[in-house]
Amino acid sequence: MSLLEVSELKKHYPLPPERLFGPKRFVKAVDGVSFTLERGETLGLVGESGCGKSTLGRAVVRLEEPTAGKILLKGEDMLSLRGRALRKKRGSFQMIFQDPYGSLNPRMTIFSTLEEPLLLHTDLNAEERAEQVAKLMQMVGLDPKLADRYPHQFSGGQRQRIGIARALAVEPDFIVADEPVSALDVSVQAAIVNLLGDLQKERQFGMIFIAHDLAVVEHIADRIMVMYLGKAVEVAPARQLCSSPKHPYTEALLLAVPGIHSEGKERIVLEGDVPSPLNPPSGCRFHPRCPKCMPICKEKEPEMKPVPGCPGCSCACHLI
Ligand code: SF4
Repeated sequence: MSLLEVSELKKHYPLPPERLFGPKRFVKAVDGVSFTLERGETLGLVGESGCGKSTLGRAVVRLEEPTAGKILLKGEDMLSLRGRALRKKRGSFQMIFQDPYGSLNPRMTIFSTLEEPLLLHTDLNAEERAEQVAKLMQMVGLDPKLADRYPHQFSGGQRQRIGIARALAVEPDFIVADEPVSALDVSVQAAIVNLLGDLQKERQFGMIFIAHDLAVVEHIADRIMVMYLGKAVEVAPARQLCSSPKHPYTEALLLAVPGIHSEGKERIVLEGDVPSPLNPPSGCRFHPRCPKCMPICKEKEPEMKPVPGCPGCSCACHLI
């Protein structure tokens, strides 16, 4: 049994009809995505902005209520949990946000910020909680003597360390890290990514790492899932996906990043913007921008299927 099994997850946002008594309209931000996550594994989630990756991450930790689908954590149905049962379970799945400043309460000291999850999810007494807060600060490389300070007294990198400490305070089974370094200076990005990687090795939690930068994801992820317009289009072991992408969209994303995967190769320029998830294109959603588009692509939606001769790889493309 996998740590986390997500099947056919959907998040559709209703919009008012265009005219009185007109048909209902929905923005299909996530439209039937399935994946698994193992203990100690990092699944990288990539795609252009608007592809649904952040909505998917938020739906998996129930910050957004999924419209349909299934989420099993260690075999337990997460979507049937409501009210108190859900609040109790929340310690098992945590989120690290893109903007470490926005996600910390400016009126709470770091001590209170880190003590809060311990108060909610453990039976530790005041002395034990103080000890635990000090340990958490040390764990992320911060001096426990700074615990009585407020978020604005820390740098962006330090604030993200506090966000990580808060997410790991109650030993979650998995975390969703949503673009955790994209708001930080390049000089501190590597330190935060390495810290997350080291903590994961030590604590063996599962991690969904969301980013638009494939170079960062390749560094930390075991497997990568590429999303386009609310759908998963390719999943594969990280090295395999970056060195030998199967889906034309993955290929274009890789060639857009200057580096070893684009050296000596002709850059694929993706025409136009990502279409609106309100009116996705027929057939393969990528067809209006795909340089390899065939007649069938405009009519038939390709299914996600295993790639022959490539263990652990799946792709949704008529070329496979
Ligand atoms: Fe391109 Fe067709 Fe494959 Fe879609 S199914 S990615 S349009 S080749």
